[in-house]
Amino acid sequence: MIYENEKLSKYNWFNLGGLARIFFKPNSQLDLKNFLEKYGSKEKNVYTLGAGSNTLFRDSGFDGVIIKLGKNFAYTKLLEDNKIEVGAATLDKTVSDFASENSISGLEFLSCIPGSIGGAIMMNSGCYGYDISKIFFSLKAMNLSGELKSFSKDEIKFIYRGNNLTKDLIILSVVLQGESGNKNQIKNKQISLINKKKESQPSKIKTCGSTFKNPENKKAWELIKSSNCSNLIIGGARISSKHSNFFLNNGNATSSDIEALIEKVKKEVFLKTGINLELEIKIIGVK
Ligand SMILES: Cc1cc2nc3c(=O)[nH]c(=O)nc-3n(C[C@H](O)[C@H](O)[C@H](O)COP(=O)(O)OP(=O)(O)OC[C@H]3O[C@@H](n4cnc5c(N)ncnc54)[C@H](O)[C@@H]3O)c2cc1C
Repeated sequence: MIYENEKLSKYNWFNLGGLARIFFKPNSQLDLKNFLEKYGSKEKNVYTLGAGSNTLFRDSGFDGVIIKLGKNFAYTKLLEDNKIEVGAATLDKTVSDFASENSISGLEFLSCIPGSIGGAIMMNSGCYGYDISKIFFSLKAMNLSGELKSFSKDEIKFIYRGNNLTKDLIILSVVLQGESGNKNQIKNKQISLINKKKESQPSKIKTCGSTFKNPENKKAWELIKSSNCSNLIIGGARISSKHSNFFLNNGNATSSDIEALIEKVKKEVFLKTGINLELEIKIIGVK
């Protein structure tokens, strides 16, 4: 389906952003290939959106194409040797539950990350010492010319909250590999990680999680707190009282409010500590 002037606020966790000139929701690889062959090389701005849990769209919207994989790209399939093939649009929690049902351990941490597997690969998402690089086996993607590409684990270099894949790739499916485990122990681990998260991070709020990456050997939230930024408010944007690196839309924020708060915090932390915080969230659109 192709939508014109689609409201982006419906598709991200901040519930913010203007209109996308073109919003494309393919429901099959062929659908995507046909679209890319027609528009892929002509369009300068193409952004692949997952669950929007790490993306802030600007108020001015997006003068280009947003691609959001449709529901046929959300599936789980059991393979041999504790491997699971998942469509890139599958939510991390669904993948973790599927692994647990099949007594595969190592994927428990995915139960506390709210994004899609496509997003988890691009962000090398993780928590509590785990991340996607440790369970990644291979993936299939399509480039903007509509060509299929495959990558094995030896071909991708994962780094903290990123990887070396080129940005013109739309991930279609991923194979993850865990280890044979005990179903009850896996479920218990999922529950304990979810509870641990609930204790330290806010839930049911309009946020994209950690705004900044943790600098080496430092915690961004501690730097923000010690720079006296925790109580800053700009328009409808503020910082979670539970976790100083979680910025939120209190209901009537604009994207500009969130961005202004980000800039203010970055400046204050630099003045106080000399550390230049780097964004973890993606800010998309023209300022
Ligand atoms: C409450 C909360 C808690 C969070 N906790 C954590 C945490 O513990 N650990 C952590 O690492 N993150 C956490 N996050 C951040 C976020 O959930 C992760 O970064 C997540 O993996 C993003 O996935 P997404 O599908 O929502 O990505 P999006 O925000 O949609 O996109 C993020 C990036 O991935 C790319 N992308 C998405 N899908 C595809 C695809 N199919 N092909 C190519 N590129 C794609 C986008 O272009 C973009 O660059 C949290 C967020 C929230 C809201």
